[in-house]
Amino acid sequence: MAGHGKFFVGGNWKCNGSTDMIKQLVGELNSADVPKDENVEIIVAPTFVHLEQVKHSIQAPYQIAAQNCWHEPNGAYTGEVGPEMLKDLDVHWVILGHSERRHVIGESDGHIGDKIKQALSTGLKVIACIGETEAQRDASEAFSVVDRQMAAISKVVESSQWDQVVIAYEPVWAIGTGKVATPEIAQEIHHHVREWVEGEVSKDVAKGLRIVYGGSVSDKNAGELAERPDIDGFLVGGASLKAGPFAAICNSH
Ligand code: PGA
Repeated sequence: MAGHGKFFVGGNWKCNGSTDMIKQLVGELNSADVPKDENVEIIVAPTFVHLEQVKHSIQAPYQIAAQNCWHEPNGAYTGEVGPEMLKDLDVHWVILGHSERRHVIGESDGHIGDKIKQALSTGLKVIACIGETEAQRDASEAFSVVDRQMAAISKVVESSQWDQVVIAYEPVWAIGTGKVATPEIAQEIHHHVREWVEGEVSKDVAKGLRIVYGGSVSDKNAGELAERPDIDGFLVGGASLKAGPFAAICNSH
């Protein structure tokens, strides 16, 4: 079992849900058998428009995350949501740098860095995503891609803020494809990232940093992945929309 802080499971609901569907899902999550001990942290990330509904209906131990935020507190940015607004809503986590933001929306390392910096300085905790595409893996660039993404993240995280950050390694080829990384592949990258942090940030930060895996995580494969020493939890997409499988993943450590 991995041992870098509390086991972390995030449910990324992506662009899914309606008030009725969320009412049902939250009801099922509230009665699901998830660990309620201090050693596990469980987060769900609905769309912006459903944050308020989830906040008023979901119960402990679940916490809430937004799936994105802007790099300025407020201003003339039509369609964006500032981190202060999330904090005002009592939302304490935000996912930044998800591969769908990087590759579908076109966010750069630099822009993601600006968002992480603003979110942390506002007092939000950040789930910062990294991961290579299939073409990059085929070209043996997986290590260099995650190094570059980590460099952009570590440039904006102050030494006192690292305990507010969870790194999510989500290889793009594994997201929503049913093609989960083998425990060996995931462990290899997680270990590499931890070593990178040890060299570029500090030994203490590397020791305490939670590095979670995402990409086709299910109730079937979570247990085997969670056994690996550098896998400290999961960021779950598809399987987080079903209370039973999500609860099983939360119990997989
Ligand atoms: P998936 O998505 O579990 O559906 O592959 C993971 C993610 O995008 O965070």
